[in-house]
Amino acid sequence: MDQFYQNPPTYELLCDKVQQMKNTYPHMRNFSIGKSVLGRKIFALGIGNLKNATLFVAAIHAQEWLTCMLVTHFLEDLCYHEQNQKPLFDTNLTDMFAERGLIVVPMANPDGVEIALNGAASAKHLRRQVGRMLTASTRSWQANARGIDLNHNFNAGFQELKAMERAAGITRPCERQFGGYTPQSEPETRALVHLCLGLNIKKLLAFHSQGEEIYYSYGPNTPKNAKMIADALKASSGYQVMNPTGLASHGGLKDWFINHTHRNGFTIEIGKGENPLPISDLPGIYHKLREMMFISLLI
Ligand SMILES: [Zn+2]
Repeated sequence: MDQFYQNPPTYELLCDKVQQMKNTYPHMRNFSIGKSVLGRKIFALGIGNLKNATLFVAAIHAQEWLTCMLVTHFLEDLCYHEQNQKPLFDTNLTDMFAERGLIVVPMANPDGVEIALNGAASAKHLRRQVGRMLTASTRSWQANARGIDLNHNFNAGFQELKAMERAAGITRPCERQFGGYTPQSEPETRALVHLCLGLNIKKLLAFHSQGEEIYYSYGPNTPKNAKMIADALKASSGYQVMNPTGLASHGGLKDWFINHTHRNGFTIEIGKGENPLPISDLPGIYHKLREMMFISLLI
């Protein structure tokens, strides 16, 4: 693994990595799906037939930045094998990518990741407000720069979610679990919604940490084969198939995706331990999930 995988992924390091991958893999597509509250680009990287694409989204929760490294490494793995005409899991990638594609959003919440790694000083003109919201450590920072938890900001069961937040005493912007005053109020949330609808995304995997768990359902629009696919992902990874409870039950990206598109969306909770998971966990997690991520493209 190169330099990018040795350090926590700051926004600057990600920008460098995207540039390096562009130079190395001319088949890889690279575009911005929008900007964060503080004007940082939200990158999307694609390979293969993007009219029939699976979407991987990482680092929507700030301190879960190890997910950014995981999905970037997987995309790079695919690009390397495709470019060098090496099969992966006995699959010819040129044939596979003629038919289907992968889009990766490696860092859906760049402002939040910067706060988690570099503190309130990284939040530009919002540094004072962020400073007031920060508790003793940046380790539990999950939200964007306005203190909105993006994975509670999607338009799926928003009123139920607000009632649960109030019951838990969460009534204003803070480091985690405040979903905002209205659904999809945040530019990062809207960028993901527009990407899913604009490119008619066929399947979603949202990466979080931690727990070694797979979530696959949201309400009556959950596809009938969702549990079967979750079981296949489980068989490959050894992760457990779960049903959400509590504050994680509404407002998430996969919740909105399933409810709105009637297609398969999964939340994958990678690794085990306390967030942020250490970089030393990445090789083991990658080893465990490489085949699972590949299978998710095929089904
Ligand atoms: Zn999360």
